[in-house]
Amino acid sequence: MTTATTTAINTFVKETGGWIASQLEACTRCGICAEACHFYQASGNPEYAPVWKVELLRRAYEQRFGVMGKIKMGLGLEKPITDADLTHWSDLVYQACTVCNKCSLACPMGIQLGPLIHDVRAGLAEAGVVPQDLKDAVMKQVEIGSPLGVTDDLFEERIDWICDEWDIDIPINKKGADTLVIFSSIEVMKFPDNLGAIAKIMDAAGENWTISTKAREVVNFGFYEGSHERTKLFLNRVFDGAKELGVKRIVVTECGHAYDAMRWTAPNMMDVPDIEVTHIAGVMGEFVGSGRIKLKPGFFDTNGAITFHDACKIQRRGGHIKEPRQILNIIAPKSFKEMSPHSEESICCGGGGGVIAIKEADPLRFDVFKLKIEQVEKSGASTVAMTCSNCRLQFLDGIQHHNAKFKVRGLSEMVAEALEE
Ligand code: SF4
Ligand code: SF4
Repeated sequence: MTTATTTAINTFVKETGGWIASQLEACTRCGICAEACHFYQASGNPEYAPVWKVELLRRAYEQRFGVMGKIKMGLGLEKPITDADLTHWSDLVYQACTVCNKCSLACPMGIQLGPLIHDVRAGLAEAGVVPQDLKDAVMKQVEIGSPLGVTDDLFEERIDWICDEWDIDIPINKKGADTLVIFSSIEVMKFPDNLGAIAKIMDAAGENWTISTKAREVVNFGFYEGSHERTKLFLNRVFDGAKELGVKRIVVTECGHAYDAMRWTAPNMMDVPDIEVTHIAGVMGEFVGSGRIKLKPGFFDTNGAITFHDACKIQRRGGHIKEPRQILNIIAPKSFKEMSPHSEESICCGGGGGVIAIKEADPLRFDVFKLKIEQVEKSGASTVAMTCSNCRLQFLDGIQHHNAKFKVRGLSEMVAEALEE
């Protein structure tokens, strides 16, 4: 057995504590989870069934601890895990899974497939069997603080530029601010107007807020990769920046995976400071609900139907399902139309979980996006609003690739445009 295989198996087994073992034992092999997975739906490939993606965990657990596993191995009915298996499962769990967690909702036995798939990634990350593009992005985040190459200088240049464009001030490293707003490098590089829009919303609400140069990147590529060590490293950078400024809450902007890492993964894996973590979708809902910002009724009712794409980590996992609808029902009451399915049942865009960063996964993520196109077209919408910039990038790529005819908008930008001055 090679070092990589031993490392992966040791990590799988370490991860396979009592809870995970009971999860694996409870599986009845009914296959219901397969129908919930957009990769399986789009391809019909049985290897994309969620339960198959965690097969390596089951084999490691059974071979190390189970009598049946030892008997099967002795009789040659089950083969030991090899390097080739690691490479094969690396393709399955990094390229054909966005860790959207829809399969966990579908499983009648309540098996938490999303977290289990994350555990497969953890073993592969320890063994170094991670797609090269993802590895490169992780290393960039280790070395310069951003997987997309946003250096300190570039960040400051972007902030200056957005302040000029939007005619606003963005407070930087303001001690005594209540709220720290942290953007993702996708927003900084691809959707810089989000910075201006969110700044405008914070100011309109009278929020005492700031950004931080130390905690300037909310995306966590260590979490995508599955490495606990690097997930913690990137989380600590954010929490250290927040502690230094003494803020009471952290607002994660339009990035779903980062929200998951900050809000749930962090407290489950390390000591975290007593600072509330929330998402801009929730904050905008809070501002509108309390009257701290006012939106022009029907402002977006003039340009065709608008639908809303629920991001897996913000809406399904984060629960911010009501607030975007509350907002859209003010700014587009006549033109807002739901897709089917939506809310918790929504289909993932196909680009989350780091998939969009892996070039080799492009054909698959474009195939999967056809499901989303079908959904949007059935709704009759010409615009799709959303609260995750990773989804937005996947939509833009997918629309271009398939020559689809609808537009995408970040909800924060729409809110900023519809603000009553
Ligand atoms: S739905 Fe649950 S019980 Fe059925 S095969 Fe999938 S993981 Fe196993
Ligand atoms: S987490 Fe989402 S993408 Fe991954 S296997 Fe489950 S349904 Fe499929």
